Amino acid sequence: MTLTGKMLIGQHATTGNREAIRAVNPATDTPMEPAYPGGDREHVAQACALAWAAFDGYRETSLEARAAFLEAIAAHIEALGDELIERAVAETGLPRARIQGERGRTCGQLRTFARTVRAGEWLDVRVDPAQPQRQPLPRPDLRQRHIALGPVAVFGASNFPLAFSVAGGDTASALAAGCPVVVKAHGAHPGTSELVGRAVAQAIQACGLPEGVFSLLYGSGREVGIALVTDPRIKAVGFTGSRSGGVALTQAAQARPEPIPVYAEMSSINPVYLFPAALAARGEGLAKGFVGSLTQGAGQFCTNPGLVIGVQGPALDRFISTASELLPTCAAQTMLTPGIFKAFDSGVTALTEHARVSAKGLAAEGPNQGQAHLFVTPAKDFLANEQLQAEVFGAASLIVVCASNEEMHQVSEHLEGQLTATLHLDDDDLPSAKALLPVLERKAGRLLVNGWPTGVEVCDAMVHGGPFPATSDSRSTSVGTAAIQRFLRPVCYQDFPDALLPDALQHGNPLLLRRLLDGQREA
Ligand code: NAP
Repeated sequence: MTLTGKMLIGQHATTGNREAIRAVNPATDTPMEPAYPGGDREHVAQACALAWAAFDGYRETSLEARAAFLEAIAAHIEALGDELIERAVAETGLPRARIQGERGRTCGQLRTFARTVRAGEWLDVRVDPAQPQRQPLPRPDLRQRHIALGPVAVFGASNFPLAFSVAGGDTASALAAGCPVVVKAHGAHPGTSELVGRAVAQAIQACGLPEGVFSLLYGSGREVGIALVTDPRIKAVGFTGSRSGGVALTQAAQARPEPIPVYAEMSSINPVYLFPAALAARGEGLAKGFVGSLTQGAGQFCTNPGLVIGVQGPALDRFISTASELLPTCAAQTMLTPGIFKAFDSGVTALTEHARVSAKGLAAEGPNQGQAHLFVTPAKDFLANEQLQAEVFGAASLIVVCASNEEMHQVSEHLEGQLTATLHLDDDDLPSAKALLPVLERKAGRLLVNGWPTGVEVCDAMVHGGPFPATSDSRSTSVGTAAIQRFLRPVCYQDFPDALLPDALQHGNPLLLRRLLDGQREA
């Protein structure tokens, strides 16, 4: 398939008129063809008008039709074959096996949402039948279901060119909910975005859906991104990226005459707690696991373990010395973009001014390669210096040495919101861990025992979210089937005749849903 450098406004391939974006192969530092001229406000308005026109029809498609559409997107992505893999590898510097795995996750995610749509639980149907004889007042017939919010703006992420970009988790969950989607492609991988965007457009055509269900735009965040978020036809936003970007988009959405929800996943340093018995029993194994998690994918995961917390003593010293012996054997890895590499480099420089460097990975041998760094600081310095809590996106981590359990609590209370918190513990550590749990539940979206936070399962129980600044809305998750709830709202129908009710709420329950009927969950 020849890449065209064109946006997709519905089914129409359109060339932008603003400064062109060009992918840079970060492994060679060379710009790639073709150029992708950016769109302007008019392109945004056209895509949003189409999305709005498609909305009422798309949100009432049958569960089967919508599920089949999600499966068709997966099949069209798979049909792109090696071309997609090669382009994504060249645009991101990520290894081929990682991109292949990510394609599997992306298609698996679409199929998981197809299963979710078919099951219909997300409609959350509740029926309180009329009680005409009730005293002192009769009760009307009340029926509730969830409907789609409206067209959703999705910002592709730099660090997941497939699983959190054009047809990634935000798009899949919004389409599953019945929301048309307008994607702003990430400038780091426009070719990958074009290939996937065309696969989605083909699935729309094959399924006979309205063209406005999906559009793909290129361009600058400050023009195209802000125009999208402030367009009155957009009713929600999905975003993964920097804290400053997420905050800017959230503020723009709140300043609209009609404010809308922004689900921004931004910044997290994912504390890992090393409890004494676990450290004493298997400190060296923990150090090995930690270095593996820290350096995986050049550390470019939102769940990268950027903070390790333990109580001072010989066992923690052994952990630090083992990790510091292992890190110098780790090769520097190509980062996603020259910009992300620069941000990593300056983050490491800033940390070097405030904490002791305990170890470094192998030096870079090519452009845009991040050299892993491990820092150590006493808890009292961590508590006194906000800069030590800033996310350094990449393979850098800070070990905080606490003087006591009490200081560990203080450090925990001091933390900002997180995606994850990890506890390494043995039986003797259970009382200390239990005492810390209420703090960690307030701070993080996912709590793990004896594992590593990198690697996020796509499933029904997953929470990839957390209090600010991990996300802009801690009540939701951006990974897993519960992500659909971000794009739904409840509507209640009072005393409706059957002929006017949506299928999901009709008296005969034609969709065979498990309703909450008069306070009882149906079998
Ligand atoms: P980014 O700079 O936040 O960009 C993400 C998207 O948001 C891009 O489409 C960008 O448009 C847009 N955007 C950014 N700032 C905006 C603003 N003020 N107004 C409107 N739109 C805006 O994120 P990135 O490019 O992925 O990476 C930059 C840094 O983000 C990394 O170095 C890292 O620190 C952090 N990051 C964190 C995570 C995480 O999961 N925690 C993931 C990825 C990145 P433009 O293309 O025009 O900039």
